[in-house]
Parts: sequence; structure tokens; C-alpha cells
Amino acid sequence: MTSSEMVAHKVSRHMATAYIALGSNLNQPDKQVVEALHALHAIPKTKVIKHSSLYRTAPIGYSLVQLQEIPEFINAVAEVSTSLVPLDLLEALFEIENKFGRERPYPNAPRLLDLDLLLYGKVVINTERLTLPHPRMFERGFVLLPLAEIAPNLQHSTDSSIVDLAKNYQNQGINKFLSHEYI
Ligand code: ADP
Ligand code: MG
Repeated sequence: MTSSEMVAHKVSRHMATAYIALGSNLNQPDKQVVEALHALHAIPKTKVIKHSSLYRTAPIGYSLVQLQEIPEFINAVAEVSTSLVPLDLLEALFEIENKFGRERPYPNAPRLLDLDLLLYGKVVINTERLTLPHPRMFERGFVLLPLAEIAPNLQHSTDSSIVDLAKNYQNQGINKFLSHEYI
């Protein structure tokens, strides 16, 4: 099978476009995120259409004591096309997180891999297990900057464009680390 046939056989008629945020700050986090992109592409009925560059992000939301031992994060965003329903896609993300050996000794602890479902088409849902759009995505520079790179014209629920929202987070310690061309 050629690679385009391999992609084609995963595509069904009811595809939705979803966006997934990837983050890691342990064990060569750049390597974890690149491997996670491959893992996303391997999810059944799902393929990665595009992904952002890797961004290096200074940790936020930690105490001064914790900061001394928290390594920098690597973040990226991927656009996928999927025929899985939102909860099944979320379940697949949890499986990948677990496969990468995520541990949660305390809230916001260093992690091998965090995968968040940001958007699934125009679906709005608010349950304990799944909230869409992701409730914190519009205030996270490490989500907005990579998302603006791959989907600047994305239609979504807030008034401002993704690009304008992302501009608020320029010069805040979130820098392109590895261009998407090299991944
Ligand atoms: P965060 O990603 O905000 O740092 P966690 O990954 O530890 O936090 O939180 C995951 C929890 O959030 C899971 O229990 C999951 O069911 C819930 N959750 C709700 N909405 C989403 C979403 N859109 N994407 C990922 N997890 C979500
Ligand atoms: Mg998460």
C-alpha cells in the first residue's frame, strides 16, 4: 500500500476536524511531543492533517520552590481529521497519555505527556469528563500561539480571532523551538 492509500483507507464519510494540544516537560520533552504526533496519527479512523512547530514554554502556575525543579515545557498543537465521536477521541488521547507513562503525583506535576482536546468541529459540550471548547484554551499562550500558526482563520466561539488572542502572549517566554518543517 502506498502512503496515500494508507491514509485514504482511514478516511470515512463523516470526518470532523479537531484540534489537540500536546505538552511535555520530562525526559527529552521535544522527543515525547514528536512521538506523540505519530501516536495521534496512529489512532484508528484519525489522521494528523497538520501540526505546529514545537514551542518552548516557561512553566507558569507553580510555587517558587516547585519552579526550581520544574523543567521547561515543549508545546505544540495538531489538527486531526477523525470519524471518532468526541468521547472516543478523548479516550484515545487518554490511552496515549497512559502509554507514555504519565504520572500525577500532585496537581500540575511534571509530565511525560499531556494531551488536551481543544476543539471538535463546532461541538459545545460541558460534562465532567469532557468540556468543549477546552475551558482554558483561550487564556493559554502555549495553546494560542501554536494554534494561530496552523489555523489563523479558525472560526470559534469568542469574538476575537485566534491570531489576535495569541498576540497577547507574544514576548511571554513562549518561543519557537523547532520549526514544523523539521518534524
Ligand atoms: P490539564 O490538561 O488541564 O492540565 P489534566 O490533563 O490533568 O489537566 O485534566 C484532565 C481531566 O480533564 C480529565 O479528567 C478529563 O476528563 C477532563 N477534561 C475535560 N475536558 C477536557 C478536554 N477538552 N480535553 C482533555 N481533558 C478534558
Ligand atoms: Mg490534559
